[in-house]
Order: sequence, then C-alpha cells, then structure tokens
Amino acid sequence: MKSTYRRTVATCITLLALLFAPVARAAALEVTTSFSILGDFVRQVGGERVAVRVLVGPNEDTHGYQARPSDARAIGKAGLVVANGLGFDDWIVRLAKSAGFRGTVVIASANVRTLAMTHADGDAGDGGGTDRGIDPHAWQDVANAQRYVLNIADALVAADPAGAAVYRTNAARYTGQLKALDAEIRAALASLPASRRKVVSSHDAFGYFARAYDIRFLAPVGVSNNAEPTAQGVAQLIRQVRAEKVPAVFLENIADPRLIERIRSESGARVGGTLYSDALSAANGAAPDYLSMMRHNLQRLLEALALR
Ligand SMILES: [Zn+2]
Repeated sequence: MKSTYRRTVATCITLLALLFAPVARAAALEVTTSFSILGDFVRQVGGERVAVRVLVGPNEDTHGYQARPSDARAIGKAGLVVANGLGFDDWIVRLAKSAGFRGTVVIASANVRTLAMTHADGDAGDGGGTDRGIDPHAWQDVANAQRYVLNIADALVAADPAGAAVYRTNAARYTGQLKALDAEIRAALASLPASRRKVVSSHDAFGYFARAYDIRFLAPVGVSNNAEPTAQGVAQLIRQVRAEKVPAVFLENIADPRLIERIRSESGARVGGTLYSDALSAANGAAPDYLSMMRHNLQRLLEALALR
C-alpha cells in the first residue's frame, strides 16, 4: 500500500516536472545577433527572458564573415535581430532579408558618437557597407557601449512588451556597471605619461578606445582586418615604432600573430600580450564577457606601458 502510494507520488512529480520544465526553460524571445560582444549585451539586458544566438563565435573575425545555411535558419526563427551597423556586419542585414525575416533588425550602434577612419589605406568595413568612412568598432568606447545597451533595451521592450520592467531594470543595473568600468579605465590610465601612451595592434580596431582614453594605436592593417598590408607600409611602421620608441606591440585574439611578431623582432618593441578587439574569448578564456574583456585589455596596456 505504502509503496503504491510512493509510486503514485513519484509519478505525479515526474509528470509535473515534464509539464513545467519546458515552460521554465522556454524564453519569451529569441534573438539572433552577429557577434559575441553584442550577444553579451543582449544577455545582460534580456536575462532569462531571451534566448540569444550569436553567429560569429568567440575569437572569430566578423569582418567579411561568410554566413552558413544554419545562420539563415536561426534568423528565420528569431523574434529580433541585433546588428552592430556602421558597415561592420552588413551581411546579417542581407541575410535577414534573404531569410524572409519580417521582424525588426535593430542597429545597436544607432546614435553613438562615431569616428571617421584615419588609416591611410582607406579600408572601409567589409567594403559593401553604407557607412564607408566610419570606423565600426564603436563598442571600444565604454560611453558608446552604454548607448548600445539603451538601444538594445528599447528593441527588446518593443519586441516583447510584457518584459519591459525586466529589460529596463537589467539595463539600468548593467549601465551602472559600465559607468563604473569607464571611471576605472580613466583612473587607471591617468598616471601614464604622454611618451608612454602609444602601442601597435594588428588591425585598426582601437580608434574609439584611443579617442576616449587617450592612448595612440598604430596598426599595420586597416579597419577591416582583411586587407594585406603592403611591404612598404610595414617597413614604415617599423621605422615609426623605432623612432618614437613605442613601448609595446600587441597581438589580437582575432588576428594572425605573424605580422606582429615580425614588427616586434624588427623594431625591438616587446609583445605586451593579447588584446581583445572584435570578439570575446570562449567561456573559460580571459574575456568571456564585455566587462572582463575591457578589464583584460586595460591590465595588458598598464603592464606594458607603465614605467618601470
Ligand atoms: Zn575589426
């Protein structure tokens, strides 16, 4: 009798678990986004109400990304698509159109303070963008990241009004963390003398960081990371690194290290480590989210540039 009762209770619990488990797991909104940094912003604001699919994974290069058939299927199922814009990921906008996506494609960088490209080769994003001449790496200025978060929150509220309170609360909390990060970067770099505020990175991804935090970045490759630098351009950069006594060159998580190795060996500068430019690390890496990415970059810069 007792064991029958137990079995009945166990069966009921199993049935209840089956009934509620999918409900507890199912997100209110599926969001597809181009790259990992945007994926993190969407998760920070969306919390458990959103299921986020990122098409370009950790440590991968978004410039000129070749979409796969599974990407079109992911967009077809999405309730919202989030793109960076500024010519960085125009392919996701085209993909949404060709996949018959009828929802909103939100441009996360809308209304950020943009920056004109300064690189001599005039390389423009993926070359097919509508924003030629604008540097797309706007997230590297934490003030701009706050604008991204606001834009993403607005888009989530519009796509899923029932979650408005959750999205606004999460956005406010995360914006507070971004403001603290911005102040932390400024305070940490404040003591560096002007003569130490210059480094070399693989591609021109740190223009916004440079403007916001007053560090000069030199790069052998333009904004898009696709173009091959000319031998003449590399030789000129090596001369400049020597002449200006640039303290350090940096590898990038998305770029081939060989060119930077060559610049290091021929200029005498030292390698200051790896900077995260256009993609986060894997979950078990050094920069699994935006806050840790910016803190990782800050620490590498401080170690390489501080006077010793
Ligand atoms: Zn880039």
